[in-house]
Amino acid sequence: MADLNNDDSITRRDYLNSTLLGTGSALLGAVCPMHLLGRQNDFDGYSGIGDYRGANGNTLSVLTAGHKIRDRVFDPLPKNVIDTGEVFDCVVVGGGISGLAAALAFQRQAGAGRTCLVLENHSIFGGEARRNEFVVDGQHLIAHQGSAMFFPQFEGSVLDGFYRSIGLEQNQFHYQTWTGTQPEMALGNTPYAEDGRTLGFYFGQHFQGDTPQPHAGVWVVDPWGKKLQGAPLSEDSRQQFLKTRVENPAFRAPERHGDAVSRYLDSITLEQHLMELHGIRRETVRRFLSPVSGGGSGTGADALSAYADYAADVLLPWDKSKQAQMFPGGNAGVARLILKALIPDAFSGRADMAGVANSAVRWATLDRPGQASRIRLNATAIHVGQNGKAERPAEVSIVYTLGPKLYRVRARSVVMAGGSWTTKHIVKDLPASHREAYAQFHRSPCVMANVAVRNWRFLYKLGINQFQWFGAGPGNYTAVHKTATMAGIAPDISPDSPVVLSIKILFSKPGLSLQEQGVQGRTELLATPFSVYESQIRSMLAEMFSRTGFEQSDVAGIVLNRWGHAYLSAQPGFFFGSPGKPAPGEVPRNNPVGRICFANSDLTGIMDHRCSILEAHRAVTQALERLV
Ligand SMILES: Cc1cc2nc3c(=O)[nH]c(=O)nc-3n(C[C@H](O)[C@H](O)[C@H](O)COP(=O)(O)OP(=O)(O)OC[C@H]3O[C@@H](n4cnc5c(N)ncnc54)[C@H](O)[C@@H]3O)c2cc1C
Repeated sequence: MADLNNDDSITRRDYLNSTLLGTGSALLGAVCPMHLLGRQNDFDGYSGIGDYRGANGNTLSVLTAGHKIRDRVFDPLPKNVIDTGEVFDCVVVGGGISGLAAALAFQRQAGAGRTCLVLENHSIFGGEARRNEFVVDGQHLIAHQGSAMFFPQFEGSVLDGFYRSIGLEQNQFHYQTWTGTQPEMALGNTPYAEDGRTLGFYFGQHFQGDTPQPHAGVWVVDPWGKKLQGAPLSEDSRQQFLKTRVENPAFRAPERHGDAVSRYLDSITLEQHLMELHGIRRETVRRFLSPVSGGGSGTGADALSAYADYAADVLLPWDKSKQAQMFPGGNAGVARLILKALIPDAFSGRADMAGVANSAVRWATLDRPGQASRIRLNATAIHVGQNGKAERPAEVSIVYTLGPKLYRVRARSVVMAGGSWTTKHIVKDLPASHREAYAQFHRSPCVMANVAVRNWRFLYKLGINQFQWFGAGPGNYTAVHKTATMAGIAPDISPDSPVVLSIKILFSKPGLSLQEQGVQGRTELLATPFSVYESQIRSMLAEMFSRTGFEQSDVAGIVLNRWGHAYLSAQPGFFFGSPGKPAPGEVPRNNPVGRICFANSDLTGIMDHRCSILEAHRAVTQALERLV
C-alpha cells in the first residue's frame, strides 16, 4: 500500500486553490446539484485505498442511477432490457447488512439446491457499514464510513447466537495501548465524544455568543467540570445549557415497547420532551442540542418523535458492562463476517474478526455461476414487478441497470432490503396501504468526513482527545479513540500517532417540516463540492488548533462519505401509529406483497445494524413461505 502525502495523490489541489474555489462558489451563490454532477472529481474526491477505494458513501455514479428511478426515467420500462435467463429462488435487493443477513438466512434455511442473488448498487457490499483506509507515514488507518458501534449482546440472546454463527466473538476486541513518554490520556473505543476532563468545547467565530468574543474563538476544556465558565454565554444561557445535563426526577423512562410512557413519548416531539425533561427553553434545544440529540438522526429535535431517543434501548437491550465496541472501520467488520459465512472463499483469511478484517475481498468469488448465493455489484434495481396484482403471481421480474445496460432476472421470492427511499419507487403496483406507509418514511442526509492527520499533538497540548464545536465549521464533534488491533493497525497509540478524525456532518434545520429539512439538507450535500468541504474542514482545524501547533501539513488525507438518505428520522407516530392508522413500518413488515417481502433497518425506526439483521430474518421467513 502506498504511503499517502498531502500533495496530489490525496487532495489533487493545494490548500490555497481549495480556499479560492470555496470562496468563488460562495460568491456564485447556490451551486446547482445537476451542474455538480458533471464534475466527478470534485464530487467524490479522494476515496482512500484497499477494498473500499472508489466506494466512499453514495458515489456520483450510484446517485445518478438512483435519481433516474426518482425521475421516472424507466417508466414505462424500456424495450431493450436484456434477459439474463436466470431464475433464482430469492433475489435480495440491497447488499447492506440487512441484505447480506437475508441472503445468509435464506442459504441456511432454504436447504440445499436453493439459489439467492443479492443486487447491490455500490461497487462493494456493506451499505452504510463500509470503511475507509489510509496509509499515513507507514501506518495503516481504518475508519468507518457510517455504521460504527457494535453493542455486545447478552449471552444466549438471538443476536448473540447470530454473531457467534458468523464467527463474531464479542470478547475478542483488543485495543491499542498507550505508548511514548507523554502522560497517558484515557481514550475511549469509539469516535463518539463522552463526558470527562479531556472533552473540549469550542465556540467559534460564527457562534452567536451573548458576550463579546475574541476573534479567534474560545476553548472551554472540561466544560461540564468547569460549569461552562469561560464560554461566551450570558449567565442565563449558561444556566440553560447546564440544565441540559439535569434530568427531571419525576421522569420515568419507558420500560417496555408499548407501555404508556413509550406511547406518550411517541406522541410528542423530541424537542418538547427535552424542554420538559430539563426544564429548558425551545431556543436552548435548537442552539445547543440539535442535531446531536435524537440519536444523531440528522434532523432537528423539533421534527423527531421523542421515543426515537429511547426505542433502541427498550427494544435492543445490550450488555453495557462490556461497553460499546468497534471493529476498525466499524460495522463494515460485521458485513465482512456475514459475507465470509455466505461465500467462505470471499476472503482468504479465517472466519473470525481478524480474518476478515485483515484479508482483501476476492471479487471473482462474489457472482460465480453455479454457487448457491451470489452478489452482483454496481447493479441498481429499477423495477420489481409481478405481472399484475395477483395474490400469488408465479414469479417476480427484477430489472436492474449495470453500466449503461438494463438486465432482467426472475425470482420466486424477493426481499427488498435496500431501504424505503428506493423501495417505494421500484416495487410496482404497491397497494395503497403500502404507498401510504412508505410516504411516512423520511430519511435525512449525512456526510461522514474522515480526516486522516499525521499526529494529534495539537489536541493533546490542549489537554483533550475529544471535542465539540459551535459555530466553527461543518459537523459537531469528534474524538480520537483507540482502534481495535486487527487489519494491520498499530498496537499502540500516542499523540505522535497518525489517527483519523471522523466528523459527522448533519443538516438539522429546526423550524422546517421533517420533509423540508431532508430536502434542504440533501440539496446542500449535493451542491457542496469536495474542495469546499476540504477547505472548510482545513480552515476549521486551523481556527481551532493553530494556537497549539496545528499545521496544514498535519492533514494527510480527507475522504468524504456522502449519504443522501442516511437516517430514517422517525416523526411522532412512527412507532405506534396515529389515531386510526398503524405504525408505518408495520404495514410492509406484516404484509408481503405477493412474493415480495420487506426488510432494512428503517422499518423499525431505529438506525441500528441489529435491526437490519432481525428484519432480514423475519423477511426471509416470509419469503420461504412463498416458496412452498
Ligand atoms: C452515519 C451513520 C452512522 C451509523 N452508526 C451506527 C452505529 O454506530 N451502529 C449501528 O448499529 N448502526 C449505525 N448506523 C445505522 C446503519 O444504518 C445500520 O447499522 C446498518 O448499516 C443499515 O443496514 P441496512 O442493510 O439495513 O441498510 P443500508 O446499509 O442502507 O443498506 C442498503 C443497501 O441497499 C442499497 N440499495 C438501495 N436501493 C437499491 C436498489 N434499488 N438497487 C440496489 N441496491 C440498492 C443501498 O445503496 C445500500 O447499499 C449508522 C448509520 C449512519 C448513516
